Amino acid sequence: MASTALSEGTTRGTHHDVPVLPNFIGGRWVESSAREFQEVTNPARGEVIARAPLSSAAEVDQAAAAARKAFPAWRDTPVVARAQVLFRFKVLLEEHFEELARTVTTEHGKTLDEARGSVRRGIECVEVACGAPSLSMGYSLENISSGVDCQAYRQPVGVCAAIAPFNFPAMVPLWFLPFAIATGNTMVVKPSEQVPLSQKRMIELLEQCGLPPGVVNLVNGGREVVEAICDHPEISAVSFVGSTPVARAVYRRATHSGKRVQALGGAKNFVVVMPDADWDRAIPVITESFYGCAGERCLAGSVLLPVGEAHAKARERLTESAGALKVGDGTQSDVDMGPVISGRHREKVLGYIEKGVAEGAELLLDGRQVRVRDRENGFFVGPTIFDGVTPEMAIGHEEIFGPVASIHPVRTLEDAIAVMHAHPNANATSIFTSSGRSAREFARHASASMVGVNIGVAAPMAYFPFGGSKDSFFGDLKVHGRDAFDFYTDKKVVISRWF
Ligand code: NAD
Repeated sequence: MASTALSEGTTRGTHHDVPVLPNFIGGRWVESSAREFQEVTNPARGEVIARAPLSSAAEVDQAAAAARKAFPAWRDTPVVARAQVLFRFKVLLEEHFEELARTVTTEHGKTLDEARGSVRRGIECVEVACGAPSLSMGYSLENISSGVDCQAYRQPVGVCAAIAPFNFPAMVPLWFLPFAIATGNTMVVKPSEQVPLSQKRMIELLEQCGLPPGVVNLVNGGREVVEAICDHPEISAVSFVGSTPVARAVYRRATHSGKRVQALGGAKNFVVVMPDADWDRAIPVITESFYGCAGERCLAGSVLLPVGEAHAKARERLTESAGALKVGDGTQSDVDMGPVISGRHREKVLGYIEKGVAEGAELLLDGRQVRVRDRENGFFVGPTIFDGVTPEMAIGHEEIFGPVASIHPVRTLEDAIAVMHAHPNANATSIFTSSGRSAREFARHASASMVGVNIGVAAPMAYFPFGGSKDSFFGDLKVHGRDAFDFYTDKKVVISRWF
């Protein structure tokens, strides 16, 4: 969400009786000098729970200076000692697991189980980063010429920055932070101004792990902070996750100022179901793919492509399954789907449903009228399904980022793959089939770089690289896995001869 101007959820002054979040610079929590604030809302209740300052470029400068100052000593700290900080961090994240999951649910709205899953995925990144002594090894070759040896070392790149979206308040920051500091870099992190509480809590825990001041700094804010990060001469690398237009802009601006950049963008994910799918197993998984986290996942299914005879069954079974989901406050254990992030986003999703109707798609399930008892102010949208959707319709090609499924029937698997290829985004895709041949063809020819076979969400695994392709990813090295060790280090080659 752009946040330069005052907009919904943005306030001036200090009249609300909710905490104003501090920045963390040089090892101290400091009040921001911001004059504008973004309200942080519990989306299930529609209640303001905190205010995030929209900090200035000057505050980015202070954070970058603190990170720059901390860099030489942290770089020279043996990698095993850096890993020990992360082992302690992992212990504290486990001890505070439930609290973190609850914070995620409170500021984002997803169900507690979904929040737990996301915190678990984040902790796995810390675990993998603890392997930095092995994973940051270089390589060598003796006697490349008579009496001459050659070694390649990995060295940290300097001050790195990570900019996060709203939809995974704890997990996405952990795609970057543990790997960057394990490899000896220092950091400036910027949470989404809509969900800054989980990241604040994680930095408080990290503070207790013996991290020297300035190694990690947090600056709250929006567009001004992002642009200052992109331009800052002391920042060497930028990791960004968010929508495609902003990812593209960040990639251009930060590479223009000489940084290495990985920018993960938005998605429109296609899920193919073949007539030979194991329907009883597939339908719950497909339902979860489209409606999990209220559709606010960059890996969420968005367009269902039933092949041939699969159409009638897909339409009937998905409508039945989605219609049975209980919508409500994600903190309640019997709830299947929480609210969307904000009133503004709810309006946007409802607008897409209006457009789908106007463009002539058949509305099989209408989530517009959903009301939740005792949560009248929550930002709820019920599960929605359209059939007869084509790529020309807005709901067929734009990212809705809400609980709206579009069914686009196709004749063959090749047609399904062609529909996917025609879309500019290529983040994730799945196929449901009992044919190894169809699965293999699909995986080989899919444009998206995260592929699920009888899996609804090909989720990020900390020990593998993660990221899309085409307009869903700008850069070359993806996030976490071995790519993280490449992204956060530069390779120095030393050629030696001793006389
Ligand atoms: P967003 O692009 O609005 O915001 C992302 C970050 O950029 C935030 O920190 C925000 O403060 C900042 N920002 C917003 N507008 C900006 C601007 N004009 N200039 C500079 N910075 C700006 O995204 P969001 O709404 O927070 O998150 C949802 C989007 O993120 C969806 O498109 C989703 O698909 C995508 N996403 C992608 C992945 C992935 O792995 N590819 C993962 C999660 C989310």
